[in-house]
Amino acid sequence: MKCSEIKRKLSAFLDGEVSEEEKQIILEHLNTCDRCRKEFEALSQVSEVLEVIDEIQVSPFFVTHLKQRITGQKAKSRVHIPFVEWIRRAAVPITAVVLIIISFLVGSNLGKVLHREHAENMAESETDITSVLGVSSLAEFPEGSLGWAYDNLLIGGE
Ligand SMILES: [Zn+2]
Repeated sequence: MKCSEIKRKLSAFLDGEVSEEEKQIILEHLNTCDRCRKEFEALSQVSEVLEVIDEIQVSPFFVTHLKQRITGQKAKSRVHIPFVEWIRRAAVPITAVVLIIISFLVGSNLGKVLHREHAENMAESETDITSVLGVSSLAEFPEGSLGWAYDNLLIGGE
């Protein structure tokens, strides 16, 4: 299966709406394809949040308040809006806000990861670190100073 086909099936996969055969194909693909796996991880985070929203217990105060508003609306107009419909409408902006929070969290985590990878790359090369610190040799620091200790540490205490 192509990546585009996998991506189209991911949400059905998360909802358990794919056949056993498709499930195996998707799982195998996710094991080998980084891009689809990332897409899948992002999607599964979103669906977890949506589940949480479904499970959120609406406070009694909110319900009373909402019922009062609905009654008020009914008095003004004769249009009947089911209570469930009101909850559904309220869920849309809530979902939007939660998604924004998630994308913010994912974004800041990504920033941390990138920063860490950058730091690891730097540590791989001694010359990089010494050039960044502006240190070219041990002789630049008097023995026993902090700079000397740090430089000594970098070259393995020789
Ligand atoms: Zn793929």
